[in-house]
Amino acid sequence: MSKITDIHLDVAIIGGGNAGITLASTLSAQPSQLKTLVFEPKTPQQRDCCWSLWATPGQSKNLDKSILGKWAQWRLIDDSSEVLLKSHNYEYITLSAERYLQHCEDSLAGSVGIQRCAVDQLSQGSGSVVFQAGGQSYTAKNLFDSRPPVVASNSLRQHFMGWEIRTKTRISETDIATLMDFRVDQSRGLHFIYALPFSDHHLFIESTMISKTLEDKQWYRDAISHWLQRHGIEVDELLREEIGVIPMEEIPHTALTSASIGAASGAVRLSSGYAFAAIQAQMTRLAGGIATGDYSVPKPTSSYLSAMDRVFNGVLLSRPDLAVDIFMSTGRALNGDQFARFMLGSASLWEWIKVISAMPKRVFIRQVCAQVFGHD
Ligand SMILES: Cc1cc2nc3c(=O)[nH]c(=O)nc-3n(C[C@H](O)[C@H](O)[C@H](O)COP(=O)(O)OP(=O)(O)OC[C@H]3O[C@@H](n4cnc5c(N)ncnc54)[C@H](O)[C@@H]3O)c2cc1C
Repeated sequence: MSKITDIHLDVAIIGGGNAGITLASTLSAQPSQLKTLVFEPKTPQQRDCCWSLWATPGQSKNLDKSILGKWAQWRLIDDSSEVLLKSHNYEYITLSAERYLQHCEDSLAGSVGIQRCAVDQLSQGSGSVVFQAGGQSYTAKNLFDSRPPVVASNSLRQHFMGWEIRTKTRISETDIATLMDFRVDQSRGLHFIYALPFSDHHLFIESTMISKTLEDKQWYRDAISHWLQRHGIEVDELLREEIGVIPMEEIPHTALTSASIGAASGAVRLSSGYAFAAIQAQMTRLAGGIATGDYSVPKPTSSYLSAMDRVFNGVLLSRPDLAVDIFMSTGRALNGDQFARFMLGSASLWEWIKVISAMPKRVFIRQVCAQVFGHD
């Protein structure tokens, strides 16, 4: 296609997922009239899943239209104990990704829009980026790229299948989110059930593994069915099934570019797989920078947090037998507010000290040495 037909943009955003559409929606609400387009091939419905996070009541109110459920109590369970945490300052909330994405898409106005197509043939021009999308050629002064990173097949990953179900049986304790129930098959890697009761007959239940090897779909389905059976919960209707694979290792430097945003920029918390809150914060800061002419992408997490998470994952890999205990000890060491901050990556030094004190010290020290000196 000839260059004369290029469409010129101030800002091009590749991918309209959490990062891309949040950035576009925030830019759209700003007074500047930067000509901005998001390129996203899939509809919100095609990308529906559950996104959960800890939020303050104020943050929760802003996301209200997309919320499927919220809980002020959450728990971790192993064979011999239960840790129940309550918070007054944070709620654990679950969003419908479809509703969130649709709401953001609907908010785009003025000079910000969306094209329902994929981007390809990206190349660097002089002072701009040139690419193709939907048979059209574009030139953009600034580009932000949220295309998911390629995950190596032998890397540590969080992989899961979730069912949103209506139940025949009445669900009890609908005011508690079960974050990790470890009373399941642990023979293939760290495995837990995640169960979120949206109401007394509406449940989201997920079988989650942290390991290097993905399982057959039927394996996760069986794990969910067994858990439901054990709890005497009969399924009335399977409303939706979702599967996901989230990297738990750092994105190689070669795959990181200055244009990467969201998960592609390393926003996924390496030790937990949570990313939503970090991406929201990254996009708010990026949009704020753009308003003042600064287009550099803020780092999604601090180097300190990534280093701590590397140690944590190193321990999980070297001593999988301790994994359940490590998660349970983290829960026991903190109260609800502290736990929420820890999961959000905003724990204070004191809260970190409490967590570290609860860990098997020799194993952690050995892992720190392995990270720092490259051997243990
Ligand atoms: C099933 C699932 C559940 C998750 N649950 C949670 C959770 O509960 N809490 C949490 O904190 N995190 C969760 N995460 C992790 C993280 O928050 C999400 O992955 C989040 O969507 C990452 O946002 P993103 O914008 O970086 O990437 P994405 O949302 O994946 O967006 C990338 C977009 O790029 C588009 N794209 C791909 N190729 C092209 C192309 N060539 N051109 C244009 N567009 C393209 C894709 O269609 C996609 O919409 C979950 C992840 C998954 C997969």
